[in-house]
This record gives sequence, structure tokens and C-alpha cells, in this order.
Amino acid sequence: MSPSKIYGLIGYPIKHSLSPAMHNAAFSSLTLNARYQLFPLKEDELKEFFSNLKRNNICGLNVTIPYKETVIPFLHSLSQEARLIGAVNTIKVSDTTLEGFNTDGEGFLRHLEQDLKFNPKGQTVSLIGAGGAARAIAVYLAKKTPRGLTIYDIDKTKALTLINHLKENFTGIEFKHAESIEGLNIQNSNLLINATPMGMKEDDPCLVHKDSIPRDILVYDLIYNRKVTKLLQIAKEKGAQVSSGLGMLLYQGVGAFELWMAQKAPVEIMRKALMEELNK
Ligand code: NAP
Repeated sequence: MSPSKIYGLIGYPIKHSLSPAMHNAAFSSLTLNARYQLFPLKEDELKEFFSNLKRNNICGLNVTIPYKETVIPFLHSLSQEARLIGAVNTIKVSDTTLEGFNTDGEGFLRHLEQDLKFNPKGQTVSLIGAGGAARAIAVYLAKKTPRGLTIYDIDKTKALTLINHLKENFTGIEFKHAESIEGLNIQNSNLLINATPMGMKEDDPCLVHKDSIPRDILVYDLIYNRKVTKLLQIAKEKGAQVSSGLGMLLYQGVGAFELWMAQKAPVEIMRKALMEELNK
């Protein structure tokens, strides 16, 4: 039997990643001779790692914090989306090339539209955060022509850079910068997204005041390591629809699987594996 094809995640630190459970469940359900493993790498180890991909039979990679931008110089080509987002979360290794993709934004959108039944077209969106994940989400939302997208980040320069980038690439959408959370005007939004790590830790403060959350809003927190963050808890109490980032994690994985394997991913098996791993 030929050796297993190796897939995996590079980043640092990554020991709590749910991705191995999700992808290995998919591989075994389709009896693919493949294995997904974690590659916790320090930045000075990246060069050697990339020069040994073939020798180690590595056929595909996911990329997470802090290397979604750092890996770009190691690649031969980028998808149009990865170029627009400026970050890569999936690498396809072929005989001669390394191709970079970004499935985060598409994963978010697929979860939003397919599972949560939210159509962003014509809607007003408030986005907290302007980092890697926020950039991916903003680009994919912009493709769906919401009415407006307002962005707040603690780092004002990052928020303004993202807004300018969106204005250069998309027309007919009102892109605005908020100087504070209050400036997001959440009361008049249809969708509120937290794309910051605030809320991952038990004692993190909640970024949004309960009074500012209307009942007819969808509150989406990208955090997936806890089912209900403080933000989701107060939104639930106000009667709003809420979602954690687990669905986005699932569908970015589905996107990566389909790029690597050129076949449909077993979505429900991957979803079940993620839930089981999270509940451990
Ligand atoms: P990132 O690149 O570090 O971006 C986070 C951004 O949030 C940074 O610009 C950061 O500013 C800003 N920020 C931090 N605290 C803030 C606050 N109190 N108020 C406003 N802005 C604040 O991280 P990322 O990769 O975008 O990830 C963001 C979150 O999304 C993480 O929790 C990650 O786990 C999650 N995520 C989930 C999925 C999924 O599939 N569900 C995928 C990707 C990411 P500074 O840099 O100045 O701190």
C-alpha cells in the first residue's frame, strides 16, 4: 500500500485545534488513504518546512494565526479571493506548484446563507474587528451587496485600511468607519459580527452593551471554542438570533477538503466530528 497522503495545519500555538478531528473523520468515512495532523511551527522553521513538503508527502495545508500572510512568499500562485483578502488559509500542493486559497470568507457566507438563512443583500452590517478573519468576511459580504458595512477595530489604522480596500474594490455599498462600538449603530443593523478574539476567555469583558442590541438582529460571534460567549448570551436574552463560529469553521474545512480532494466533502460527518471534539 502506498504511504498515506499527509494534510495538516500550520500555525502557532495550535494544540487545541478541532481541524484534525473534522478532516480525519472525513478521510476515514470515504476510506481515503490520507491523514491530517498538526504542524506547530515557529516562524524560523517555515522555510525548511516548505522546502520538504514533497519529501514528507504533504499534499495540502491549512494555515492559521500567525502565518496567514507570512506563507504568501512561499507560494507560486494565489486565488483571486486570497489575493483580494491578502491572506491564505488553505494551500494545495501539486507536483510543481503551491497554490494559496482563502476559504474563511466562503465558509462564513455558506454558514450564513445555507444554515442560518440570512441573505446579506441590502442589509446593514456592523463588524467588530479588522484582522485576518474580518477581512475575509468583509470581502465575501461585499460580493453580496449589503446596503452598508460599518467597521470598528481597536486599531483604527487597520479598520481604515480595510474600509479603503473595500471601497477600491466594491461599489454601491456604504462602507463606514466607527470610532467606537457605539459608533457602529448596532440598533439599526441587521447583522452584528464579532471578529475579534474578545470573548474567547471566560473573564473577557463583553464588547457590546445589552441595551444596544435590537431583537430583530443576527449576532454572529466568530469564536467557536465556547458555544455561548457573553456577547451571544446577552443577544439571546434580547431575543436576537445568535450563532457561534463553529459553522464557519466547518465550512472553511469543507472548502479546503474540496480543493484538496476534488470531490464533495462529507459535510454532516465533519459537522458531527467537530461537535464531538468540542464537547470533549
Ligand atoms: P486577528 O488578525 O488578530 O484580528 C483581530 C482584530 O481584532 C485585530 O485587529 C485586533 O486589534 C482587534 N481587536 C482585538 N481586541 C479588540 C477590541 N477589544 N475591540 C476592537 N477590536 C479588537 O485575528 P483573526 O485571525 O482575525 O481572528 C479573530 C477571531 O476570529 C479569533 O477569535 C479567531 O479564533 C476567530 N476566527 C474564527 C474562525 C472560524 O472559522 N470560526 C476563522 C478565523 C478566525 P489588535 O491587533 O490591535 O489587537
